[in-house]
Parts: sequence; structure tokens; C-alpha cells
Amino acid sequence: MTERYAVFGNPIKHSKSPQIHRDFAQATGQDLSYSALCVEPERFEIEVEAFLQGDGKGLNITVPFKQRAWAMCAQRSPAAERAGAVNTLYRDHNGELCGDNTDGIGLVQDLRNHGVKLAGARVLILGAGGAVRGVIEPLLAAGCASLTIANRTAARAEELARLFADLGSLQGCGYPELAATSFDLIINGTSASLQGELPPLQRSWVAPTTVCYDMMYSAQPTPFCAWAQDVGAGLVLDGLGMLVEQAAAAFLIWRGVAPQTAPVIADLREQLR
Ligand code: NDP
Repeated sequence: MTERYAVFGNPIKHSKSPQIHRDFAQATGQDLSYSALCVEPERFEIEVEAFLQGDGKGLNITVPFKQRAWAMCAQRSPAAERAGAVNTLYRDHNGELCGDNTDGIGLVQDLRNHGVKLAGARVLILGAGGAVRGVIEPLLAAGCASLTIANRTAARAEELARLFADLGSLQGCGYPELAATSFDLIINGTSASLQGELPPLQRSWVAPTTVCYDMMYSAQPTPFCAWAQDVGAGLVLDGLGMLVEQAAAAFLIWRGVAPQTAPVIADLREQLR
């Protein structure tokens, strides 16, 4: 019997997850279907319960439901527990609803694919929203020496720094408080690029060896990537690889098989052109 998977969100029509998971299934010989469903906010919990009956085996959850998915879970992975957000749902052998957050694993894996050294790195994260919450724990677990979170609303960055303080060296602040020193890795986790905007960036953060990473991706360089190239960053990456790697981590949780990601990333990049 074909087992069913889906991504729930609102809006959802531009989601690339169905294509990614179908490619994984084909490459690994798994018999599954994967669809994208736009869920009305008042029906989210009902639709999750209904889907995960019978042959509905797993769900990805995206904006704006990750926190509500977290609240529904009886069991959560350590990464999801801390993040307060779940992007991967499934039932365990006892039928309990389990949640994970694979965004951070996806980011760390994509950085590794590009040879970025995280052990000992001084990292600056811009933004303090849902995506950033999911990546802090995996970045610290990968051995980053320090993590500075800067956000337009400083209080949200300070709150995140407090929440994860026992895991490593963390600082949260607003943009004006940031020192003019350089970082090894700068991650743009704001949604500013979606409006074609940029957070207030300082040239002095970027040394010739600095890696700049935008969680957003697009056919043309995102405004953040264009800025990073302009100021001479050593390596500039967008979030397409993160998207595919977080999907691969979900696929592994559900199916017990790790799909190859490089061909899928290359195909998606080609389609964006
Ligand atoms: P949220 O809405 O939860 O958070 C948005 C963040 O961006 C907030 O910190 C907000 O600051 C900040 N922000 C928004 N506009 C501006 C601006 N003009 N200037 C400065 N800061 C701004 O979004 P998410 O965390 O869910 O998503 C963030 C980004 O990450 C999106 O671009 C999304 O596409 C991407 N993403 C990529 C993934 C991937 O797999 N590649 C996975 C998940 C997300 P404030 O708190 O002050 O409002």
C-alpha cells in the first residue's frame, strides 16, 4: 500500500517539498505519495489528526503552524523541544504523536556540504524568528565558539540568548549594539529579503574568509547574498541546500533511509534559472 505524506501550511502553493520528497522516493525505491495542502487556520489540529490516521504516515509543517504542531506533540526531539517549533510529525509504535525540527540539521548539513568549519567558529545570526529558533541548538552542538543573535526587535534576540544560555556562549542584542568586529559565519535568518529589504548590515563584520549564508533562496542572488558578494565575503550561500537537507532529515526519520541530496539540489537550482 502506498503510504501518504504531506506538507501543511498556509499559503503553500509555492512549496517545493512535494517535488523534493518524490525525487527522494524515486531515488531510494520507496513507495510513497507526498502532497502540499493549504490548511485553514481554524482546522489545523483536526486536519493533522485526520491525516495521520490509516495510511497517512508523516507530515511536514510550515508557516504559520510550527508552534501549534509543537503544542500537539506527546513526544518531541531535544531540538524541537528547545525550538518551540516542529516541522516534522509522525506517530511512534504506540500511536503517540512525535515531533522533530529538522531546519537546524538542514542548515548545518548544507554548511558541511560546502566545507564550512563550524568547530570554533564565531557566528552572527540576524533575526530571531521561528527559523532562527530552530538552528541555534544544532549550531552550538556543531561546536561554534560563540553565537551572537541580532534582531530588529532587540528583546526577541535577548530572549533567545537566555533560552539557550546553558548550551554555549550566546549573546542577544539589537543591531546598534553590535561591535564592528568580523565574524567567521554570518547567517541571515530574517525575512527582510522577502520584501527586497536588508537588515542594517555593517561592512566591518565581513573579513575575506567570512562565510555569508542567507536562509532564503531565489533565482537571482538575494539582497543579502548580493551585499555579501559586494563586500568581499569568502563564500556566499543561499538557503536552497538547507531546504533540501531539512527534507532529507525528515525523510530519514520517516523511512529510515538517507537519500542523496546533491542531485536534488542541482535539479532545483537548474529549475530556478
Ligand atoms: P519569522 O516571521 O518568524 O521571523 C522573521 C524575522 O525577520 C524576525 O526576526 C524579524 O524581526 C525579521 N525581519 C523581518 N523584516 C525585517 C526587516 N525589514 N529588517 C530587519 N529584520 C526583519 O520568519 P521565519 O523565521 O519563519 O523565516 C525567516 C526566513 O528564513 C525566511 O526568509 C524564510 O523563507 C527562511 N527559511 C528558510 C528555510 C530553508 O529551509 N531554507 C527554512 C525556514 C525558513 P522582528 O522580530 O523585529 O519582527
